[in-house]
Amino acid sequence: MALQNNMQRTVELSEGMGMAAASTSLTRAGLEVELVPCLGDNYCPLIHHAASGATFVMDTPEAGPIERALRKRGWTLTHILNTHYHSDHVGGNLELKAEFPQVTIVGHRSIGKEIIPGVDREVAEGDEVLCGAWGLALLEVGGHTVAHIAYFFEEVPMALTGDALFTMGCGRVFTGNFAQMQASLNKLRQLPDETVVFCSHEYTLANAKFAAEVEPENSALKARKAEVRTMRDASLATVPTLLGYEKATNPFLRWDVPAVQEAAGGLSGAVDVFTALRKWKEPVSAKPSGQAPKPCRTLVSDPERKRGSERGNEPPWLHRRVNVSRDTKALLTHLVAI
Ligand SMILES: [Zn+2]
Repeated sequence: MALQNNMQRTVELSEGMGMAAASTSLTRAGLEVELVPCLGDNYCPLIHHAASGATFVMDTPEAGPIERALRKRGWTLTHILNTHYHSDHVGGNLELKAEFPQVTIVGHRSIGKEIIPGVDREVAEGDEVLCGAWGLALLEVGGHTVAHIAYFFEEVPMALTGDALFTMGCGRVFTGNFAQMQASLNKLRQLPDETVVFCSHEYTLANAKFAAEVEPENSALKARKAEVRTMRDASLATVPTLLGYEKATNPFLRWDVPAVQEAAGGLSGAVDVFTALRKWKEPVSAKPSGQAPKPCRTLVSDPERKRGSERGNEPPWLHRRVNVSRDTKALLTHLVAI
């Protein structure tokens, strides 16, 4: 795995974000993707590899939309790759297992109450998992929750990051801690720039606004923020992203950039800078302490919306459901064009 920690690199945005950015890598790897919107703002990438017949999904916010997408495509679900135990990531596990009894549910080895429903294969970093023809690398990326795993397909390359790394942001720190989260993001930051990153939520516009507060003079960020707005105006998904874009514009991967350190109050330690940024974006008082874990529909999505309203001028379409057929059509058009 190449270390490409080139933080000052100028990122070309001409390839765009969303499926357009990912299509070259995905097509080369023989993968088809249906990005299934679920619940309010979850994305559920449904990924099919025709050569091996493998069809896998990152998390299952709810069964209905995933099942409908599978039927429409004529795909048989072979693997559920769960990132963590929050209900908007595992809520459809058992229903999908009932519909597709051959499916293998892969999830992090349980820690305390962080249990994956119906899990067939409990895994941790260092374990080897085969998903059809693909050997997966497992990355421990706890912090949002203690037990959180990301799946890395080195041959694509592609990473399924759940609620650890978002497009231009990262997940809130709940049952894990800030140092753990920073270490997890540092691990993801070491993946190649061209890594296609699927995260679980459409929070990009709000994340872009925060990123611009941190680094107002970052030209790559300015360009990307404008692109995000254009895409959301057109109801296009900004997920997936390419890791190179994140390294250049995501403040939660840029703790060692002087402008970010300055914005964080002149701190320089990686964990200190990250913690300051994370608390700046979400006051720590919003974090529950000493409570039993709750699903992130309550703890994540609602506060995300609440923060939006606190910002006052967030457009009403930010959390609108994306247009599936439009996104799919855009992907197919792009795939056919290559
Ligand atoms: Zn979560």
